[in-house]
Amino acid sequence: MKHLIFLFFLAGLIGCTPSQEDYFDLIISNVNLIDGTGFELTKNVNVYIKDNKIYAIDSKTLEQNQNILDGKDKFLIPGLFDSHVHTSSYKKDFERFIHFGITSIFVTGGSKTTDEFYEKLRTLGEQDSLPSPRVFHTSQIMTMEGKHPAKTYGASSWIDGETVFNLRDTLQIESVINQVSQQPIVGIKLVIEDGPIPPFVDRMPQEFVNKVSKEAAKNGKGVFAHISDNTELSMVLKADIKNIVHFVGIDLDFENGKQLIDSIYKSDLSWITTLMLEKSFIYPLYPEWMQRVEDFNVFDTEDIKILKDSSYIQQAEQYVYMLKNVWGIENPNLENIIIPYVEEINILNKNGVNMVLGTDTGNNFIFPGYSLHEEMQLMELGGIEPIEIIKMSSHNAAKMLDMLDTHGTIEVGKFADMILLDKDPLKSISNTLSINKVIKNGRIQKRIN
Ligand SMILES: [Zn+2]
Repeated sequence: MKHLIFLFFLAGLIGCTPSQEDYFDLIISNVNLIDGTGFELTKNVNVYIKDNKIYAIDSKTLEQNQNILDGKDKFLIPGLFDSHVHTSSYKKDFERFIHFGITSIFVTGGSKTTDEFYEKLRTLGEQDSLPSPRVFHTSQIMTMEGKHPAKTYGASSWIDGETVFNLRDTLQIESVINQVSQQPIVGIKLVIEDGPIPPFVDRMPQEFVNKVSKEAAKNGKGVFAHISDNTELSMVLKADIKNIVHFVGIDLDFENGKQLIDSIYKSDLSWITTLMLEKSFIYPLYPEWMQRVEDFNVFDTEDIKILKDSSYIQQAEQYVYMLKNVWGIENPNLENIIIPYVEEINILNKNGVNMVLGTDTGNNFIFPGYSLHEEMQLMELGGIEPIEIIKMSSHNAAKMLDMLDTHGTIEVGKFADMILLDKDPLKSISNTLSINKVIKNGRIQKRIN
């Protein structure tokens, strides 16, 4: 046994060169690799998986035929992250995430997220037999009495001290942040915004935001801030917060707003996109989008039927009316709503801001798993290159979650989470839907159909 351990150790030292005698749990052979780092595609490589991890990557001709998954003419990309998720019926949602190749999710609070609920999500995420993504999450939402989201989304499941924390004074913040930091959270979820639609509520005062940031840092945690406009963006930057969970509502002026832009570039930000929110608001007006969802045969027909209710069409019409008459968007179709956002995201991304894809799944017309692919397509619509889009939904997510050493790309030593595709995603990002196999933790996952 000692001898064996020594051999493994030696194999590690010489760069894990696989030999014919080695046993591998899985080898994906002769595949076109897009590793998630943003570098170009590498043709015809073998990816060796052992003990849930990527053991080696090489391009030699394979002689053994044990546990080989033939990757010829196929494309291998990292398992995707949806970095802004809410879920209540998580068992149903989890199968769908895996079906669509989302091998990790980042849950950013919600009206069900008690400590016990989070524990259930993590327990499912930690095993790899039942289809479930890896689960990372923030604390419960930190807000204040009478503010967003408890007031604006008046649901009875917002319970102070359980699913949400209503901060009362800056002194109390220390103990609350200390308390939630005992849980295995990535960071603190902080809601600053003044509500999604009029009548607006008051924003969280700056001194509260500062105090949350300071106390989170003391506990070794980051803050994940929910904002909805430039004013709130400035508040976040002032408080030295490093993560933002929405881009919707932001409008940057790269020519005349230099001061704000400079402070963004100086602040080492990770910024989650959630442009699917904008698409979701107009979804009911485009029956062909809904048809696409139905055609997958993985979502409940009952749920889809509910979404076809005429009240949703009316809401969407009102939203379009507001975009036209309040925001001055001449023809508020998908292109005209989305492209200006993506152009800004593209500039930020090129200037080193860590842009991360997330959908805000849990809202109507945002579909667990599928909508991350839609989010990717929105990025392409606005001119971001597919190789960069893949990076934003793998590498960049792991970087934000501070786990790039072990997750987020297809590199030796990392957990083997990946998707085998039939078609080239660099030709069109919609080819990320041509899924052949989903692998999580080195295991081929059961898909819905
Ligand atoms: Zn959200």
